[in-house]
Amino acid sequence: MTVSEPVSETPWLQNEDQKPLIQIKGVTKKYGEVTAVDNVDLDIYRGELFCLLGGSGCGKSTLLRMLAGFEDLNSGTITIDGVDMANVPAYERPTNMMFQSYALFPHMTVEKNVAFGLEQDNVPKLDIADRVHEILKLVELEDFKKRKPKQLSGGQRQRVALARALVKRPKLLLLDEPLAALDKKLRKQTQFELANIQEKVGVTFVVVTHDQEEAMTLSTRMAVMDAGRFKQIGTPTEIYEFPESRFVADFIGSANIFEGRVVEDGADHVRVETGICDVFIDHGHSVQVGAKIWVALRPEKIRLEKSDNPVSGQNQAAGVIDDIGYLGETSIYKVRLENGQIFDVSAPNQARPMNRTHRITWEDRVNISWDPSSAMLLNS
Ligand code: ADP
Ligand code: MG
Repeated sequence: MTVSEPVSETPWLQNEDQKPLIQIKGVTKKYGEVTAVDNVDLDIYRGELFCLLGGSGCGKSTLLRMLAGFEDLNSGTITIDGVDMANVPAYERPTNMMFQSYALFPHMTVEKNVAFGLEQDNVPKLDIADRVHEILKLVELEDFKKRKPKQLSGGQRQRVALARALVKRPKLLLLDEPLAALDKKLRKQTQFELANIQEKVGVTFVVVTHDQEEAMTLSTRMAVMDAGRFKQIGTPTEIYEFPESRFVADFIGSANIFEGRVVEDGADHVRVETGICDVFIDHGHSVQVGAKIWVALRPEKIRLEKSDNPVSGQNQAAGVIDDIGYLGETSIYKVRLENGQIFDVSAPNQARPMNRTHRITWEDRVNISWDPSSAMLLNS
């Protein structure tokens, strides 16, 4: 796959002088019968904001806790900055953890909350003052330093927790669902802030989240997890545009998925026979003629046209509008195809509904079509 980002910002691409900061090799963690983390391998590089993304119970927090040293491994190794962590206790690791609950001291001011860890480490008083000042400036809380946590908004409390974790200058900051306590709008805004702060301090972040939008916004790369395993590791674009499995295609965004059989496998194209139409894809893929595979199409990549002349042929099909969901900025059209499958097609609402002349409505006959570059092939 070709990736367009410059090499300096993509240390995970082959680059001899970039050693990973974290190397996870064959790591497994079991709780009785439950395998929480199942033989995973992962390299994370300095300066990355890496997200572990997956549904509840898939093992994200367990993996994070093993990095922090709060949990033993059943097998495998974790190396941070070249040092095997097997016998390194949590308090001696170059890591710091930020918890979902923030765990701020309610009776202490912002300033004291942030200074606390440094005082525990016996950092000289003048240095503490400097470092606290510097970090509060970074998270834009200088004006709030004399306040106590209950006098702050949720977003501000989140930034105090972040400041408190960063002031200790860890090589690696571990964040478990850092934005889960915030409401949706604030969470979106805070995602950008978090990414900006991470970029400024340059500390490597590993963030656990179950929210795919959050992972897409924050990460340099992410691992999509399911039942203790990594389903796919990649940049947000790779994961969205080139999912390798039905699980990932469906988990990240939404996708219309249908079965097919490969009938042509060229260097620069693939042709797939499906129950919907002949699908032509204008790039190579590692598949074999005759193989059963799945095709996925994102709702926004499908064109929708009202028409009484049903099309057939490559990358197009005819159907009937079964349902319409008005979401404000876009509408989702549920198109019932001739084989009975319902396809989701999304379209932006450029005109206000009452002004639209060629409005598509329930039971309208429509044709759908897509570009040869839009269909995604899934092997499993
Ligand atoms: P996530 O953070 O992805 O929601 P966790 O890592 O917390 O998932 O949990 C993964 C699995 O391990 C779940 O099935 C959970 O019930 C189990 N688990 C986690 N911690 C413990 C524990 N201390 N004791 C027993 N089972 C646990
Ligand atoms: Mg968790």
